[in-house]
Formats: sequence, C-alpha cells, structure tokens
Amino acid sequence: MRAAIAACELDPKLSVAIVSKVYPMRSHTVSAEGGAAAVTRADDSFEHHINDTITGSDWLADQDAVELFVKEAPAEMTQLEHWGCPWSREASGKIAVRPFGGMKIERTWFAADKTGFHMLHALFQTTLKYDRLVRYDEWFATKLLVEEGRCQGLTAIELRTGQVRLIAAPAVILCTGGAGRIFPFTTNAAIKTGDGMALAYRAGVPLKDIEFVQYHPTGLPGTGILITEAARGEGGILVNKHGHRYLQDYNLGKPLDVHDPNHPQKRTMELGPRDKLSQCFVKEMEKGNTIETPYGHVVHLDVRHLGEKKIDKKIPFVRELAKNYAGIDPVYEPIPVRPVIHYMMGGVHTDTLNAATPLPGLYAAGECACVSINGANRLGSNSLTELLVFGARAGQASGQFARDHAQLHLPALEAMARDEQERIARDFIRKEGGTERVSTIRTELNKTMEEGAGIYRTETSLKETCAVIARLRERYPNVRLDDRSLSFNTDLTAAIELGYLLDVAEALAQSALARTESRGSHQRTDYPKRDDVKFLKHSMAYRTDGVPRIEYLDVTITKWPPGERKYGN
Ligand SMILES: Cc1cc2nc3c(=O)[nH]c(=O)nc-3n(C[C@H](O)[C@H](O)[C@H](O)COP(=O)(O)OP(=O)(O)OC[C@H]3O[C@@H](n4cnc5c(N)ncnc54)[C@H](O)[C@@H]3O)c2cc1C
Repeated sequence: MRAAIAACELDPKLSVAIVSKVYPMRSHTVSAEGGAAAVTRADDSFEHHINDTITGSDWLADQDAVELFVKEAPAEMTQLEHWGCPWSREASGKIAVRPFGGMKIERTWFAADKTGFHMLHALFQTTLKYDRLVRYDEWFATKLLVEEGRCQGLTAIELRTGQVRLIAAPAVILCTGGAGRIFPFTTNAAIKTGDGMALAYRAGVPLKDIEFVQYHPTGLPGTGILITEAARGEGGILVNKHGHRYLQDYNLGKPLDVHDPNHPQKRTMELGPRDKLSQCFVKEMEKGNTIETPYGHVVHLDVRHLGEKKIDKKIPFVRELAKNYAGIDPVYEPIPVRPVIHYMMGGVHTDTLNAATPLPGLYAAGECACVSINGANRLGSNSLTELLVFGARAGQASGQFARDHAQLHLPALEAMARDEQERIARDFIRKEGGTERVSTIRTELNKTMEEGAGIYRTETSLKETCAVIARLRERYPNVRLDDRSLSFNTDLTAAIELGYLLDVAEALAQSALARTESRGSHQRTDYPKRDDVKFLKHSMAYRTDGVPRIEYLDVTITKWPPGERKYGN
C-alpha cells in the first residue's frame, strides 16, 4: 500500500492496482505488535542506528542500503503519522520510543502493542484517496508474465469465481511477505507461504541469502503465537526451570535489578539479538535447564515485577494473548515461551536504490525482498520501517519505469493467461488419479525443515533435508484435490501454495548446505566460525531444472569494516 501510494503520487496519469489474496487489512503486518525503528531521540544518531543494524546483521547487510534506510526512516514514520497513525507519546508530547533487541539506544516507535494494525489502517485509509487505485481483493497471483525480456504483468485467480484473470502491467511490485510456513512452528500467518519469492524465482530472479531464517526467542508453545519483544523491552526477564536468569551465562551482559527504575533502559541480556537468544535456549535445553511441557520444552518470560498498571498500559495485548492462548495471567504468573520461526532475512534479490530486481519491470519490497539491510540477522522493529522506506522507493521507481515502457504485448499476454487457466485446470481441478494429499506433503516438509535446517545445522542434517525435499518435489505433481469447485476453493490455493513452499524450501536448504560457516542466524555446528574470506558474500540461488545453482555476490562494505559482535553491559 505504501508503494501504491508512491506510484499514485508520482504521476496522476498512472493507474495502479493492488492485488491481494486476502483483504489487505488481513495481511500479516496487522499482527506486528512491538514497533518500528527510526532515530528520533536527541541522544541517538544515524550512526548509532546504522551501527546496530550492521552489527546485528553480522556484517552481511549492504552498508549503502542500511545507510539509506536509516536516513529515510524518520521522514517516512512522520509521514505515516500525518496519514493518521497514532504513535504513542511521552507526557511531554514527544514520540515515545521503547528499547528493542540489539538496539543500543531506544528508537522503536509504537502504537501500544498493536503497531502493525495501526500502520496498516493508516495506509489503507490513505489509499482510499486515489480513484486511480483499484483493489483486487481476494485475487491469488499464480504467475509473472515475462515477454520481450521484461515483466509485463501477472495472472491471478479471482477466488470468488475461480477464473484466471490477466493483469497486464508495465511494472509489477512484489510485496507478498515472508515464508515462515515452510516450518512447523511459526508466528507467521497461514498465508505466509513465500508466493512472491517463488514467482520471482520461477521467472529467473535469484533468491538472495535465503538460508538466513530468524527464530524469535519468545513464542507461545503450541500455537507459536508471538509474545512481542516489547515485553522484554519494558523490562521482562527470561528464567530457566531453576528461576535463574540464564542469559548471564552466555556473554550477553550482567543481570540488573529488575526493580531499578532505569532497568528497561539498560539494554542488556534479555535485549540481546534474537539469533543469540534463540541459540542460548537450545544450550539451556541441552543442559537440562528447560521445562518440559506437552508442547515441547519452554523457559519462562517473567513480567510480574512490572505490575498490572504498566502491563495494561504498555503491553495489554501480551496479557490478552497469554490469558487466551496459554491460560495464564502474566500479572500473576510467568509466561511459558520457546523459540519460534519468525522472519525471512533473505528473499527476492533487489538493488539498493530502486527495489528493482534483475528482471526489468519487476520490483520487490518488504519481507519478500532482500535489499539487503537485514543480512544474517534482522533487528526487531527494522522490518516495519523497511516496508515504508523501500515500499515508497519501489512505488516511485516502478512508476517511472511504467511511464517509460507503457507499450505492452497484449496478444501474447492474453495467450499466456489462457495457458495458465488451462494448466491450473489440468494439474489440479480436472486432474484424476492423484494419490498425494497436500497436507501430507506439507507436514513432511515442515518436519524435515525443523529437523535439518533449524537453529543449528550440519552437513548431515542439511543433506538429509535436501534429499527429503527432492523426494517431496517428485511427489508434488501427484497431489489430488478433494474440492473441485470453482468458488473460494481453498483446497486449490493450498495446493498451489505448497508448490511455492517447496521451491523456497529447496533454495533455502541448498543455500544453507553451501554456506560452510556460521554467521548470525545460520549456525553450522560443523563450521562454528564466521568465515569472512569465503563468505562475506550474499548467496544467490537460481532455479534450474535440477538442484538450484548457488552463486555469490560481494557484500557492499562502505565505512564499517567487519568486526566482532559484542553485546552486554
Ligand atoms: C506476529 C508478528 C509480529 C511482528 N512484529 C514486528 C514488529 O513489531 N516490528 C517489526 O518491524 N516487524 C515485525 N514483524 C515482521 C513484520 O511484521 C513483517 O516482516 C512485515 O509486516 C511484512 O510485511 P509485508 O508487507 O512484506 O508482507 P505482509 O504484511 O505479509 O503482506 C503480504 C501481502 O501479500 C499478499 N499476497 C501474498 N501472496 C499472494 C498471492 N499469491 N497473490 C496475491 N496476493 C498475495 C497478501 O495477501 C498480503 O496482502 C512481525 C511479524 C510477525 C509475524
């Protein structure tokens, strides 16, 4: 929506469409709780935000992209306020900011703990200003159309009728979000199946750094529902089964008195970066210090010392979620939590300035893209801001491209759309004799991803995962649908999404196998050290008829030479 607004603002003659497989307000962004980062406090600076982001990324982020992102972030956040986003404020009237993991100074703007919800509303209501902006809600994209060497639109299933429609366009921006559903235990909504990543990959665009997957340290057992980092930002602590604040044993700083009024501002331990905190959990589990539950091992997130008043004011949604989904009231009891798949650092390869992919006419922004500012580990609250900064840039650049390339090859596009309708009917709707169920293949995929490509990885585990994925890909064409109807056929969309999941999972596992080092979220127990000589590089996975081809691209280092990642007080 940010991209669409930018394109509309660029030129009153452009006509812009937003295609979404769900109503836009149901996009995963709606569930973001904690906040969005941008420099605002007097004691903060661009330099600090850049440093935190680059260190957090374990030096895999492109430094020109990070610099641009940090510098444009405050204006984008202020713009969003002018469009109606109700940022929480201090008593003085200044923007309130909270500490977030890996950020050494408070710079996370928030709207209580419903930040994504409010951001999405502010953007949605702004899109309504433009008559030229047409929404295709509940249209499901199935293919990017490439003609004369450039992207000239896409096909999408109109879910209400089941018809495949052609959307011809001189420029297309993918803003299709992440792919957490490759894994079994995730904070990600069921719609996050990597569709845009797979569509670009199939059109010949590489997936960059796709092996880097973020675990968030505090998910609710069973459901995977996220307990936002804001709970720790406000002063929550993590303890093991002995009531011990175990993070002090892992070089992340010393514990501070939780009753010290300055405690939340002392960015240490519990506010370490997500990759490290998730790895500490595994180590505690290996030591036998975690608590066994019917939903796996957990530790405790304790916010009781904050008191009811502060909990209700600052993190009311945490209380609501813990009550409804863990059956405990965090005012009186600690919350059981465990690491959970949360975010894809990698995605569709784009350039820094324009969010452009190597395929002319195709752009990507948001979680599906890899610019890259997140490198090997994203810092919490950088992602929502990334949507704004690079969404706006994608809108402007693609608008410009559309103006310069208005001519489309319509007869060819129409023929491709007819072929796509026929393919979907043949492979799914009319198909007889298939023996595989979508859910069986998906469950097996989830299982092998967790076992082989989770928090810790080895050559043996990854080879096994790659082999399982290859077998699942062979079985996939044999899926059969139970529902052959046309209207809102979720059996069909789940089958197509499974194809997307398999593509992204294969690129992920193969890229992880090829990266024989440990960096950020990618931890190889057989290669425990970071190897800057060989791997200070982005991986680029290209789709082929066989296993993906992995190439490497240099990381852009401008002013901040690689160093050791240090956290703590
Ligand atoms: C529970 C949770 C909490 C989070 N909290 C924070 C936070 O506090 N701060 C922060 O910075 N980040 C947070 N994140 C991460 C951040 O919210 C996401 O990275 C970001 O919102 C992704 O936005 P997006 O626009 O890229 O994609 P999404 O918001 O996921 O939207 C994707 C859109 O693409 C459409 N789409 C996808 N596939 C198709 C298809 N085949 N056809 C048509 N349309 C399609 C969908 O319908 C949807 O509209 C959180 C993530 C989660 C899961």
